[in-house]
Amino acid sequence: MVSYKELGLVNTREMFAKAIKGGYAIPAFNFNNMEQLQAIIKAAAETKSPVILQVSKGARNYANQTLLRYMAQGAVEYAKELGWEHPQICLHLDHGDSFELCKSCVDFGFSSVMIDASALPYEENIALTRKVVDYAHQYDVTVEAELGVLAGVEDDVQAEESHYTRPEEVIDFATRTGCDSLAISIGTSHGAYKFKPEQCTRDPKTGRLVPPPLAFDVLDAIMEKLPGFPIVLHGSSSVPQEYVDMINAHGGKLPDAVGIPEEQLRKAAKSAVCKINIDSDSRLAFTAAVRKVFDEKPGEFDPRKYCGPARDLMEELYKHKIINVLGSDGKAE
Ligand SMILES: [Zn+2]
Repeated sequence: MVSYKELGLVNTREMFAKAIKGGYAIPAFNFNNMEQLQAIIKAAAETKSPVILQVSKGARNYANQTLLRYMAQGAVEYAKELGWEHPQICLHLDHGDSFELCKSCVDFGFSSVMIDASALPYEENIALTRKVVDYAHQYDVTVEAELGVLAGVEDDVQAEESHYTRPEEVIDFATRTGCDSLAISIGTSHGAYKFKPEQCTRDPKTGRLVPPPLAFDVLDAIMEKLPGFPIVLHGSSSVPQEYVDMINAHGGKLPDAVGIPEEQLRKAAKSAVCKINIDSDSRLAFTAAVRKVFDEKPGEFDPRKYCGPARDLMEELYKHKIINVLGSDGKAE
C-alpha cells in the first residue's frame, strides 16, 4: 500500500471546491508517455495551474502501472524543479470499470479514481459506485462517478448512442453513492470524431462541420438539483482544425474530424463544471508534429528530433487550454 500523500500528490476535493467558487475548471489531461507528461507538467508549472493527470485502463496496460506511478511521483519533483513551489497535481484513474481496478489504483498511490458504471442499470451503478467510495474514502482518495452515457470511442470505452443524464436522478445518485464528483452526459463525446456529418451543419465559407450545441439546459437542471456539486465533462477535446489540417497535409487521413467548440467549454468552465477532460487534442498535436518532421525530413531517425517538436506542440496546446479555455492559470501559486 502506497499513499498518494507520500508521493506529494493531492486529491480533488479542495481543487474542485475552489474551482466552483472561482468560476473556472481544472484541466484533466491523459498521459501515457514521457513527452506528454513533460508537456503537461511544464504547462501547469509555468501557468501555476492545478492539474489532473489521468491514466486510463488502456494507458495502464500500455505503460505499466508501476512505471506510471513513479512517473507521477517524478512529475511532482520535476514541477518543483521548474520553480512551482507547491504543485497541485492529482493522479486520477480515468474510466475504472471494476471495483478491483479502482482498489488497485487506490493501493498504488492514485489520489483519485473514477468508477464508470454508467453502462449498468441504475441500481447496479449505485451499488458498484458505493462500494468504490467506501473503499477509497478510507484513504482519503476522491471518487468520480458517471450517470448518463457518452457516445464515441476512447480506449476500451465505447458507445454507439448517447443518452443525456437525467436531472431527476442526480440527487438520489449523489446521496446514495457518496461520490465526490459526477461525470454527466450533455452532448460531449469521446474521440476525434465526436459527431457524424449528418448531426452537424456545414459552414458555407469554410466547408467545415459545425457540431450541435451542448445541452446547457440539462446542465442547468442538474446544477439546480445539486447546487455547488462538482460536475465533470468527459470527451471535451475541440479537435483543433489546424492540427487536423497539418496531419492531412503531411500524409494523414482524418476527414471530417470534429470536436466541441471552445466557446462552449469556456461557458461550461464558469459553471459547476470543475473538471474538463482533454485527451484527443494532445494526440492530434503529437501526431501532427511527428508527421510534419517525417514528411519534411525523411532522413531523420533520431526519435528526439520528432518527439521533441511533438512535446513542444503539446505544451503549447496545454497552455492554451489552461489560459484561454479553462481559466485555471494562477490558481495554484
Ligand atoms: Zn471519458
